[in-house]
Amino acid sequence: MPKAPKKPCYRCKRSLTQEKYCEKCKPKAKVQEKKRYSKDPKVKKWLNSARYKNERKQFLIENPYCCSEGCTKLSNILDHRIPHKGDYDLFWDKSNWDPKCKSCHDRKTASKDGGFGNPRR
Ligand SMILES: [Zn+2]
Ligand SMILES: [Zn+2]
Repeated sequence: MPKAPKKPCYRCKRSLTQEKYCEKCKPKAKVQEKKRYSKDPKVKKWLNSARYKNERKQFLIENPYCCSEGCTKLSNILDHRIPHKGDYDLFWDKSNWDPKCKSCHDRKTASKDGGFGNPRR
């Protein structure tokens, strides 16, 4: 695939990047996006639903350990591998769910490349 041309970062409008955000802005933008979607009343409803609570609980019982490589901690966070961004199918798709411990989850949110288990070069 040909490389995408570099464009100014969507957030700071200064650094050139092949993606939406430059490396500096990416972690911040991710957190902001996440916050925005968790404020979505539709997503809030899903997060607070009995169905989600039950399925999340069941998922963490079935997947008691953090899925990060080399991590042996207990999982207590359900992470969406592909950010659902308010998408019903992605939100509820269990194949898109990852069990994570809090520190790995926080690290992922803050990491440069998203750290989804298949690092980009
Ligand atoms: Zn930027
Ligand atoms: Zn972990």
